[in-house]
Amino acid sequence: MFEPGLDFAFSLDAADPLRGFRERFSFPKPHRRDEVTYLVGNSLGLQPKRVRDLMLEELDKWAAAGVRGHFEGDRPWAPYHEFLTEPMARLVGAQPQEVVVMNGLTVNLHLLMVSFYRPTARRHKILIEAHAFPSDHFAVESQIAMRGFDVADSLVTIQPRDGEETLRFDDVVAAIEEHGPELALVLMPGVQYYTGQVMPMAEIVAAAHRVGAMCGLDLAHAVGNIPLELHAWGPDFAAWCTYKYLNAGPGATAGAFVHERHLGAAPIPRLQGWWGHDKETRFEMNNEFVPIPTAEAWQLSNAPIFSMTPIIASLQVFEDAGGMKPLREKSEKMVQYLDYLLDATLAGRVESITPRDMDQRGCQVSLKVIADDSSGPDVFRALQDADVECDWRYPNVIRIAPVPLYNSFGDIHRFVSILEDAVG
Ligand SMILES: *Cc1c(COP(=O)(O)O)cnc(C)c1O
Repeated sequence: MFEPGLDFAFSLDAADPLRGFRERFSFPKPHRRDEVTYLVGNSLGLQPKRVRDLMLEELDKWAAAGVRGHFEGDRPWAPYHEFLTEPMARLVGAQPQEVVVMNGLTVNLHLLMVSFYRPTARRHKILIEAHAFPSDHFAVESQIAMRGFDVADSLVTIQPRDGEETLRFDDVVAAIEEHGPELALVLMPGVQYYTGQVMPMAEIVAAAHRVGAMCGLDLAHAVGNIPLELHAWGPDFAAWCTYKYLNAGPGATAGAFVHERHLGAAPIPRLQGWWGHDKETRFEMNNEFVPIPTAEAWQLSNAPIFSMTPIIASLQVFEDAGGMKPLREKSEKMVQYLDYLLDATLAGRVESITPRDMDQRGCQVSLKVIADDSSGPDVFRALQDADVECDWRYPNVIRIAPVPLYNSFGDIHRFVSILEDAVG
């Protein structure tokens, strides 16, 4: 299926129907070589070129229209977040009323846990992975403590078996069942940030619901990476950031999902702000909170326009590419090509800790340098010196993410040959 030479990489690029999208992004300037091999879209996606023009439009509007900008122009600021809702909902497989773009990811996790973590004396535990992203761990700990429970009793963590890197689904289900009647919430990632493992989200949601627990998903590494069907899978809530695979820039506004079954229904515990209040009467400025009957009810403040403008450009690129299906097709081919080259040149020296099974992985591949324990930092430095942008986790794991929107098969070939030199 694949061949080792650089020519073959170029032939894959020539046959790639998405190859033109690379031109829509700005690549960082190289230090030494003629181009940067950017493989760190799992950490900060590249800037879509159209972002600059859109940002300037908003700045000009502010300068020229002042406060009237809230209600004037093509994209008035008052309903600004609404321009993001439908394309974002398509990307995560949600209904538009289930999605809102607001705040940061950790902030959204907190707001949603206020609503969906409802501990009682009997049912007070939260299940997360032991190697959850630290911000998620901190958020959960503080939620438990603030409700008057003890983290030692109420936080349940699950980890891979000894000698294994990734979680087994059976173990997740066993933990959910073991704590069943005491479990208030299961909070899991869609894609594990360190190993790149894709979790069986629908099955985890079902297992949590079977024991009467709520289920939330952190989709930071999943959105824009793998196809998602949030409405059908049925988590109670989900949250994600937009600066990783969504390419919306550092600290860009995050996303939140609340399943339809919780919308407009019975009163729900929720932190309130004026932007969650009924739009028709918001400016009457009375003190009777009437929640919008959509996920927008969780909004607190008016929208941070300059942190949302890039998302407009970014989501347009996804729409123009035809959504996640063609992107996922290219992404699968890219990781298979990467596997092929690594097997051919670095077997025994570099080992992937990301599952091989395509159902359990997205763009990201986490590589363990196994030459010796001290070689990790040297290898990483050699990659940086060769203008390869990737991510290194102590002591010896290198994470790369070939992104189908802007990476090429040539990038993958280049990475592997530079890595081969670096590992020696
Ligand atoms: C990137 C990431 C975060 C970052 O949180 P912010 O609130 O956006 O700073 C949190 N959790 C996970 C799982 C992440 O991957």
